[in-house]
Amino acid sequence: MIDVSALTIASARKALDSKVFSATDLAKAYLERIEDKNPELNAYVEVYDDVLEQAKKSDMLLQKGVSSSLAGIPIALKDNLLLKGKRASSSSKILENYNATYTATAVDRLKESGAFFLGRTNMDEFAMGSSTETSIFGVTKNPYDVTRVPGGSSGGSSAALGADLCLASLGSDTGGSIRQPAAFCGVVGFKPTYGAISRSGLMAMASSLDQIGPFGKTVQDTRMLFNVMRGQDDLDMTSISQSIWESNAPFSFNKNDLTIGVPWSFVERDGIDPDVLSHFKNTIKELESNGVKIITIDLPLMPLSLAAYYIIQPAETSSNMGRYDGIKYGFHKDGKNGIDDYFQTRGEGFGKEVRRRILLGTYVLSSGYYDSYYGKATAVREAIKKELSDTFKTVNAIAMPTTPSPAFKIGSKGKDPLAMYLEDIFTVSANIAGIPAISIPAGKVEREGVELPIGFQLLGPQFGDDRLLDIAEHVETVVAIK
Ligand code: GLN
Repeated sequence: MIDVSALTIASARKALDSKVFSATDLAKAYLERIEDKNPELNAYVEVYDDVLEQAKKSDMLLQKGVSSSLAGIPIALKDNLLLKGKRASSSSKILENYNATYTATAVDRLKESGAFFLGRTNMDEFAMGSSTETSIFGVTKNPYDVTRVPGGSSGGSSAALGADLCLASLGSDTGGSIRQPAAFCGVVGFKPTYGAISRSGLMAMASSLDQIGPFGKTVQDTRMLFNVMRGQDDLDMTSISQSIWESNAPFSFNKNDLTIGVPWSFVERDGIDPDVLSHFKNTIKELESNGVKIITIDLPLMPLSLAAYYIIQPAETSSNMGRYDGIKYGFHKDGKNGIDDYFQTRGEGFGKEVRRRILLGTYVLSSGYYDSYYGKATAVREAIKKELSDTFKTVNAIAMPTTPSPAFKIGSKGKDPLAMYLEDIFTVSANIAGIPAISIPAGKVEREGVELPIGFQLLGPQFGDDRLLDIAEHVETVVAIK
């Protein structure tokens, strides 16, 4: 039997090409492991019934000698990504029985590259949350400690990869939903520049912030997925064309001439776990002793990112959720009349957090409040964008912890929405500014005798994704030596 825990996409690629094992062998190994571990972790909400047939198609490509980076690679999909003919529900009752009528562009590109899909993974309902506790399918457990959350909202995808129930997975990141769960589950999570990967076929949450991205065991693995998925798509007018990538390429990578900025006054804030902070400081020291120039930067507007996010996100969400009316598709509940049908359907079909965001969003957009909330938040957003783009004139990347604490206990933050929203303190600014950011595993902290992973986050300039991945790969080697 294949030891899947030792595999990366890069090593599986070599083994598949040299016929050490086939895609079918790999599929069987993962299916067996899923059967063993998933009942406890609840990372997958559905394992597809045609995994072996899909793997056989990948094998046919391999036999023909098709050289493609992802041929035969098994991938897990977050439950808000469409794969034609398969269920996709955003882990919500309102879409419980929804079957996708087309395939997301990003997923289609992976498929074209010969990858196959193991199943769909659990998430916070409609990607609102940081713990994967609001799903209609129940809580996902952290593979390092099953009394703790895997992070969220893409917690099923990070737990599946952290527990070796897939070789890579996809998530979506609107305010941190790839990077925070990656940090909690000891894997790499990458949120590309806004528009780098088409959003066609991703269920919309907050459209100006949403971005699909990969989880991988290494930076190299996430890059392999990213390179296949990226690129312009006629189905998403915000997707970035090749010419824009080329004309905006920021700088060439030289590991001996690298400057990373740290916004210390923002990082050393009340509420950050002392162990997380001391690990972060150690990693920075390691980088410094490996020749990276570290400078202190001042980002006075960064603390406002979270407040701006929790106005812009609910505003856009309240509009996007309007389509779920129980008439066109999805869950329906009869009321006393037509209008009451909506009340009954949406009242019962959406969970509490989604309803909270719809109410918040409707409020901040309502006449009389628009200027003081939504208008102000968008002005703050523009100022944050400028502050960051000015900063990237002097640094190649910005470093921060990914999260203020390691994985927290299941049930510990569910009753206090503000405590949950504070989880996003270090991640939302990348979405607000549309810039790329990545979390890589950087050490472990001990809690109740268990070693829990934590993440180190790097942010790069808009369109600087390739360089950011180069820098992250360098940091990954430095952290590994330590
Ligand atoms: N935790 C954030 C929220 O609840 C971010 C979610 C996300 O990135 N999808 O909105």
